[in-house]
Amino acid sequence: MTARIAPMDPPYAEEVKAALEKWMPPGSPMEPLRLFRTLERNHALADRLRGVGALFLGRHALTPPRLRELLILRTCARAGAEYEWGVHVTAFAAAVGLDDAAVRATAARSPGEARLDEGDDAMALRLADELHDDATVSPALWALLSARFGDEQLLEMIGVVGFYHLVSFTIQAAGVEREPWAARFPEARRSADATHRGSCLCGSIEYEVTGELGEFGYCHCTSCRKASGSAHAANAPIDRAAFRVVRGATCVREFESSPGKFRSFCARCGSPLYAYLAATKDVLRLRLGSLDTPFAGRAQAHTFVSDKAPWDAVEGDLPQFPGWAPKSVLEQRGSHQP
Ligand SMILES: [Zn+2]
Ligand SMILES: [Zn+2]
Repeated sequence: MTARIAPMDPPYAEEVKAALEKWMPPGSPMEPLRLFRTLERNHALADRLRGVGALFLGRHALTPPRLRELLILRTCARAGAEYEWGVHVTAFAAAVGLDDAAVRATAARSPGEARLDEGDDAMALRLADELHDDATVSPALWALLSARFGDEQLLEMIGVVGFYHLVSFTIQAAGVEREPWAARFPEARRSADATHRGSCLCGSIEYEVTGELGEFGYCHCTSCRKASGSAHAANAPIDRAAFRVVRGATCVREFESSPGKFRSFCARCGSPLYAYLAATKDVLRLRLGSLDTPFAGRAQAHTFVSDKAPWDAVEGDLPQFPGWAPKSVLEQRGSHQP
């Protein structure tokens, strides 16, 4: 995920520094979390949210920390906010007595798989699930909850689920990037939605894509020939939000091949992975040669054949165009196609 709203970066103005210090534990040597540095782009809002968060996590909270963390983890997992789920797992799970199985249950994909043993734990997960799915609580669950907890605590528990939806929405919509030290979703969950997987030649970088790849052609332009080291490139558009580097993010490098055009590749082996334009950076053009999973798509056209290598015999039935293909033949999202 790439940030849509950039977090504040040091050096901070005095008032920002003071605000960020309030978010972190006193005397913490850590850089303030990206979430806090993002929220502080709207200080008035951030200041009030911090108060609500402190109420839920502070010592006056009515909900025992273990239940609170189950509510938070399940809410963040259901909302897809791996950032916050991971921060809470790393910061709190062990301290509140959640073992690996309990943590994994919070990240199960469907409510049916999330069952913990009966009792308070299971009720907490169900509460988060029902509020997430239905924005209310079923009569059956309410009967269980109200037999166990008082009204004051129930309002707090509902508030925790609501608040962490707000946190999750902010993370997902603003594109807050993972903290490098935070736990990741279990592998099974991360990959369950993926429709395509790929990697670079040396294997340092692995990625996955959720959803379909867009239309593609064979581009014979000089840049694509050089960037691919071959007769042409085959690049399909995908939404950046659908793309995730699973492993080796630190190996991903970018080269600005012309103003505003970035090509990414593996720093170790040089495999091209994708390119994008700064002007349309939410669309990546994936290098299909890096795919490891089967892909049944067919090229729609040869483009920029006027640039083709003299040794390349462009044959076959696909239509050929000296420059861009018309959009009616091949729509190249995320490119300069006019
Ligand atoms: Zn590599
Ligand atoms: Zn090209």
